[in-house]
Amino acid sequence: MAIATKIQASIESASWIRKMFEEGERLRKIHGADNVYDFTLGNPNIEPPAEFYAEFRSLAQNPLPGMHRYMSNAGYEDTRRAVAEFMAGASGQAVTAGQVMMACGASGALNVVLKTILNPGEEVIILTPHFVEYKFYIDNHGGVPREVWTDRKTFQLDLAAIEAAINSKTRAIIVNNPNNPTGVVYSAESLKQLGDLVQKKERVLERQIYVISDEPYSRIAYDGKQVPNIFNAVDNSVIVTSHSKDLALPGERIGFLVANPRMTHVDLFMEGAVFCNRTLGFVNAPALMQRLVAKLQHASVDMKAYERKRDLLYNNLTAMGFRMVKPDGAFYLFPQSPLADDVEFVKAAQKHNILLVPGAGFGAPGFFRIAYCVDEAMIERSLPAWQALAEEVGI
Ligand code: PLP
Repeated sequence: MAIATKIQASIESASWIRKMFEEGERLRKIHGADNVYDFTLGNPNIEPPAEFYAEFRSLAQNPLPGMHRYMSNAGYEDTRRAVAEFMAGASGQAVTAGQVMMACGASGALNVVLKTILNPGEEVIILTPHFVEYKFYIDNHGGVPREVWTDRKTFQLDLAAIEAAINSKTRAIIVNNPNNPTGVVYSAESLKQLGDLVQKKERVLERQIYVISDEPYSRIAYDGKQVPNIFNAVDNSVIVTSHSKDLALPGERIGFLVANPRMTHVDLFMEGAVFCNRTLGFVNAPALMQRLVAKLQHASVDMKAYERKRDLLYNNLTAMGFRMVKPDGAFYLFPQSPLADDVEFVKAAQKHNILLVPGAGFGAPGFFRIAYCVDEAMIERSLPAWQALAEEVGI
């Protein structure tokens, strides 16, 4: 075999992503782009805010000496200080630049954290339905993913199930708030209960257990809600996040990790993380983007635009008979599949030029995901097709 057996198997298990993409391309060629309703990708259709371009122009017109050179693996001190100030404000904790490391997106930060903390065979709890890549990232660093379902009706944390899954091999729990694919936001109270549970288990098992809070959507919350900060709930916590969604910069690969200043051995953790950023080959986060986001910590895209899209889809689809939890954040809906087999349902939707992702892709068969970070006009145009689909599958 030309490539590693494990990678070959992984390519096959994730082949639905490629198939969805190819199907979209095929349908667009036949029916025209305007008549295909592609809800598969979490790629924001919104452009970055005006402040981003203003900073970008200013930097291009006044380049700084050495601004494209290598730097400290943790990132520019100024940028880390700006992030620390923002995170201190958001959490009320005394976060300093020493607890911030700039990274290549939340994905890069997550890989760095897992590399830093995992010994071979240690377990990482992931909460189902979960982001597709978590299993691959955990495996990258010799860990073993352990799936624990959230409450199947509300998708909120099932603390009893998490408690039952924690054992002497558990090293971390990944919490994604707001959640991809469900859009739910975990409350401050449930995060506090999680913190209490982790602390109890750490005492009994005599080992440090981390809560890794994956938060690229933390500024996308609706109806005036705020996403609670994990630092107040769990001492041994680390936030991994990025500006892929709040500044609509996913292609620029700019993110960071922030360790809770109250984490046990926080300095050692940061030293390990910076070393892993280097040796995983990221070396440092993109220099130009670090300069820009240092000035943009308080900027973000218009969240109201996402809220309007959520309302448009949620109100229309529930009126047609689709059943789902109303999301409080991110830009996804995760309805129940009207057919027992979610893959069959996604195929039925394709016949109406609606492209969706089956729940099985998130470890949750029986559901499907709609990514609504798309043009509002496309959502409007898709509604008759949704109605026809609802009738075809008999809801
Ligand atoms: N985590 C979740 C839950 C996501 O949905 C995504 C991207 O869609 C990421 C992490 C990765 O984001 P980034 O672009 O910051 O690497």
